[in-house]
Amino acid sequence: MKKIIANFKMNMVGEEVKNYFIKLLAKVNGKNQVIVCPPYPYLSLAGYIAKGSQIEIGAQNICDEEEGKCTGEVSGKMLKDCGAGYVIIGHSERKSKYRENGRIINKKIKLALKNGLKVILCIGETVTEKNLGKTKEVIKNQIEEAFKGLYENELFNITIAYEPVWAIGTGKTPTVKDVEMVAKYVREIVCADFSPKAEKIEVVYGGSVDNKNCSSFAKAKGINGLLVGGASLDVDNFAQICKL
Ligand code: PEP
Repeated sequence: MKKIIANFKMNMVGEEVKNYFIKLLAKVNGKNQVIVCPPYPYLSLAGYIAKGSQIEIGAQNICDEEEGKCTGEVSGKMLKDCGAGYVIIGHSERKSKYRENGRIINKKIKLALKNGLKVILCIGETVTEKNLGKTKEVIKNQIEEAFKGLYENELFNITIAYEPVWAIGTGKTPTVKDVEMVAKYVREIVCADFSPKAEKIEVVYGGSVDNKNCSSFAKAKGINGLLVGGASLDVDNFAQICKL
């Protein structure tokens, strides 16, 4: 069973989200685990429609503070209350547009776990870092910063999404071999630095996944699923990916 995650980003309004879930519920077949991450305002709606079904709900972000004086933010407790079981943390768009860094990502992970949310942690190199041969170094640093101070048992509530920044929304993808190399390396780092049991940590691939290339990435050695952005917006496309 693979983990297939949809990230709507800042797309769709209520009626569209509602229709999407109704259609998707009729199409998914239970073969894979399906997690859909709509924008904040529709989490409750999505949580309500999907309750008791095969589809789980994720948020796209979480506040790095517990509660109180954080105007415009949404806490882990609120996400959970809205029906979210997962939260995406450290997406490259949040790093580049909203200046999220390793320290903030680490705080967010801790708060998500404290509130009973499972984490989808995005990591990945930029095109410059790739061209400089720094992919492994970047991934090691990102994991070490994100996981600082976590308990061993918490690692298993985290899925690592390898999302090369240059592959997000560009139609460009790494080779399956490169993805396999990174998945292996991620486990080596987590095992060496945090727990020898972390061999079992889940790693998914994200970056320009569509209904044509999804099978090859899902079948890649060490890959437990896919994180799908643009191609998840069309329910028929996403339902096809969910059935791979
Ligand atoms: C994403 O935003 O996490 C993503 C993988 O986007 P896309 O599939 O559009 O590249």
